[in-house]
Amino acid sequence: PQLANQIAAGEVVERPASVVKELVENSLDAGATRVDIEIEKGGAKLIKIQDNGSGIAKDELALALSRHATSKLTTIDDLEAILSFGFRGEALASISSVARLTLTSKTAAQNEAWLAYAEGSEMAVKVMPAAHPQGTTIEVADLFFNTPARRRFLKSDKTEFTHIDEWLKRIAVARPEIHLTLKNNGKQMRNYRPAVTESQYLQRLTQVCGRAFAEKAVRVNCEHEGLKLSGYLQSPMQQELVDAHYFYVNGRHVRDRLVTHAVKQAFAGLTEVEQPGYILMLEVDPHQVDVNVHPAKHEVRFHEARFVHDFVLQGLSSALEQCWS
Ligand code: ADP
Ligand code: MG
Repeated sequence: PQLANQIAAGEVVERPASVVKELVENSLDAGATRVDIEIEKGGAKLIKIQDNGSGIAKDELALALSRHATSKLTTIDDLEAILSFGFRGEALASISSVARLTLTSKTAAQNEAWLAYAEGSEMAVKVMPAAHPQGTTIEVADLFFNTPARRRFLKSDKTEFTHIDEWLKRIAVARPEIHLTLKNNGKQMRNYRPAVTESQYLQRLTQVCGRAFAEKAVRVNCEHEGLKLSGYLQSPMQQELVDAHYFYVNGRHVRDRLVTHAVKQAFAGLTEVEQPGYILMLEVDPHQVDVNVHPAKHEVRFHEARFVHDFVLQGLSSALEQCWS
């Protein structure tokens, strides 16, 4: 199973940012309202993630490290939804096959916390008592220590940090209610406090996209025949284009040419390379969209692409019109 896990790791664990992504998604799935991320040396030396979620029961600690032990598959209907979000019950097993992984957790029902430890060479899992508040801490040390070829593929600490930071921004934008922090080599780099009101959310957007975006952003909010679009668009009065392009379909970050195109068209007069900043959330019937099952790709295909494009264009155009008047 070790080799199978390492092969799976090749798909799930590309670089430290993919480890952070899988672990934070697990924290959010566990209902955490706060997630603290600490990394050392771009994540190659250490990735430590603490959450205040439901925790993992003592008997399930070892299981959580084994392949396909997901607790998230219950029915065939779920399976479809789960696949589209990349939940396949193998992230922890994959990560533990290419790093030294420690899992410490306490559930609300337990009086004490427990720690589980697995090492790459043999999948033996040890469980021992520990101290921890409700929730889970996962430490991933020495990523790729036993797969030197992969380790060589890691870029500089700074580049790996940037990948983690960029990914965290996507989550910070989509999940304003979650308190997220990021430390690098002991230094606090990000602190996204929970945002409940719109002005708090705009503060968070200032942290993510800069003042030039958040201060004058144009509010987008429209609905038509089952489609709903909300978010912010860079003000056309703003001279300097900001490099902040966030688009979510049903809460999931995606890259989509159709949206890029609609934004450019709404800002008629921009050249091919110019792109105003935007943060847009599209809600669409899940049956009307195919999400690529590969977790690393962020592509979607709308069944009614033309209709979605025109809806987005309309919504953006009317938001811009209000801004001119
Ligand atoms: P998946 O997320 O696809 O179920 P993972 O390998 O990522 O698979 O996680 C395996 C299982 O471990 C999860 O289904 C969940 O039960 C448990 N788990 C992992 N991380 C956490 C966490 N932070 N809090 C609570 N449970 C967790
Ligand atoms: Mg997972």
